[in-house]
Amino acid sequence: MRASRYLIATLKETPADAEIISHQLMLRAGMIRKLAAGLYTWLPLGLRTLRKVERIVREEMDKSGAQEVLMPAVQPAELWQESGRWTQYGGELLRLNDRHGRDFCFGPTHEEVITDLIRNELKSYKELPANFYQIQTKFRDERRPRFGVMRAREFIMKDAYSFHLDAESLDETYQVMHRTYCNIFDRLGLDYRPVQADSGAIGGNASHEFHVLAASGEDAIAFSTESDYAANIEKAEALAPAGERPAPTEPLREVATPEQKTIGDISDFLGVAPRRTVKTLVVRGEAGTDGEAGLVALVLRGDHTLNTIKAEKLPGVAEPLTLATDEEIRNAIGCAPGSLGPVNLPVPVIVDRSAAHLADFICGANRDGYHLTGVNWERDVPLARVEDLRNVVEGDPSPDGKGTLEIRRGIEVGHIFKLGKKYSEAMNATVLDEHGKSVVMEMGCYGIGVSRIVAASIEQNHDDRGIIWPDAIAPFEVAIVTLNAHKSAAVAEAGEKLYEQLRQAGFDVLLDDRNERPGVKFADMELIGIPHRLVVSDRGLAAGTLEYKGRRDTDKQDIPLEDALSFLI
Ligand code: ATP
Ligand code: MG
Ligand code: MG
Ligand code: MG
Repeated sequence: MRASRYLIATLKETPADAEIISHQLMLRAGMIRKLAAGLYTWLPLGLRTLRKVERIVREEMDKSGAQEVLMPAVQPAELWQESGRWTQYGGELLRLNDRHGRDFCFGPTHEEVITDLIRNELKSYKELPANFYQIQTKFRDERRPRFGVMRAREFIMKDAYSFHLDAESLDETYQVMHRTYCNIFDRLGLDYRPVQADSGAIGGNASHEFHVLAASGEDAIAFSTESDYAANIEKAEALAPAGERPAPTEPLREVATPEQKTIGDISDFLGVAPRRTVKTLVVRGEAGTDGEAGLVALVLRGDHTLNTIKAEKLPGVAEPLTLATDEEIRNAIGCAPGSLGPVNLPVPVIVDRSAAHLADFICGANRDGYHLTGVNWERDVPLARVEDLRNVVEGDPSPDGKGTLEIRRGIEVGHIFKLGKKYSEAMNATVLDEHGKSVVMEMGCYGIGVSRIVAASIEQNHDDRGIIWPDAIAPFEVAIVTLNAHKSAAVAEAGEKLYEQLRQAGFDVLLDDRNERPGVKFADMELIGIPHRLVVSDRGLAAGTLEYKGRRDTDKQDIPLEDALSFLI
């Protein structure tokens, strides 16, 4: 590709509303542009990386024996009514009507559609096991779309669904998928951990998440220092022995606010009435847009005499902003979110909100978009860090009795799950077994956040000049930068020749033939994150050399012009 004919849409300034580094760099490097909240256009450069991630995922899924399909994004309500999820799914499900008034949804996931397909197509145990996958656009009306493509509303997922005669066969495919996921994330060059995840209502040790380690991660994961034990925080909590946590010792510092709010203001704001049982109300939010990882915590203390808010910005903690489901809120506060009237607050309630919302609230109260998360904590906490409020903290013994727990932040990039018969039973997906008896199939499902991976990779691979792509998913592997090519025919010609040579050898090459100052070109190539850079200049040509610099290198080096190809291989 010639940069003069290519959309290099780099930005000098960091866009103000991009909080985390990957979001900032994806905008600055010209990979994506925002259309509306949680909706992004992939520009040519970003799309190249997205396609490379897809290709790796596709190759490894094909290798595992899974078969690729492509299902519609829009799904009829009838299937969701059959599984029971039409009423259960909540606000993330985007519901639509066609011109005849029929109900549809834009698929956030495809269990219903695949189960419907397979119950019609597979008749015999001889056709099992079978695993089908797609790489496709999903829509989830996320409560808080944020961090660019990391938590978008429309995003690309690889989702796979397997079908089995019995649980043993499901176990086997589950293990194959676990290995396949490791192969995928290895090839993508990610520093990741598979962790046990809570399998919720379905039960059993039947779910793993794959987390990319990054301080900006929205999830917390717990590892043992001395064994293979690793679980997401919810799962670790489910296994941890119940016990009292030592009260956090850090004193509460008062932060100047334009005006101190009263408990009455808070309860008005939250739409819940205070009760004498309220001991602690913690309001927390993200770090400010200055990019500093942190937490704003507003802590209400005391009982019915409570009347002030104190606030503290906790240093260096990027908090999980796990959003509560309506059900969790109901469980935590005893009533639906936003509903007024007398309610009991048996436990502290954590309110997630962005720093902007928090500021709005402190200064002027904006009721939109607040979220409550119930926390199982039964005594007064003078200052709550989220870790303090959790049942599991760093340094605990692990659940398997070996070592102590280390807690890190993670970005969920993959999730595998044994579904059992949840959908096949509800939707009557059966095959005939070897005795001609009808058997409900066992199912597994396996998701990867393809578009999220692009952002997660940047979280792990960047410096103050921009992105540093691993070769495997770089939009271009090599940048050839020609200096003053519009004045020097020799440079222009040598650049073209090199470009052809490298392309023919199979490299993805960007020839930066733009009529721009060298500094501008270098800065753009670094921001975009191209792993290898070759510079063609009059000075180099006179000496028969090119200048090479790897994106992670501190020094440049001269290499003989004719050795460029062998040097890169
Ligand atoms: P999260 O906990 O981040 O909301 P999830 O558990 O709801 O994710 P799954 O239903 O397990 O997501 O979907 C499979 C994968 O799809 C996730 O592991 C994640 O990588 C990706 N994914 C989910 N939601 C989004 C989103 N809003 N934007 C981008 N990728 C997403
Ligand atoms: Mg989700
Ligand atoms: Mg999740
Ligand atoms: Mg998940």
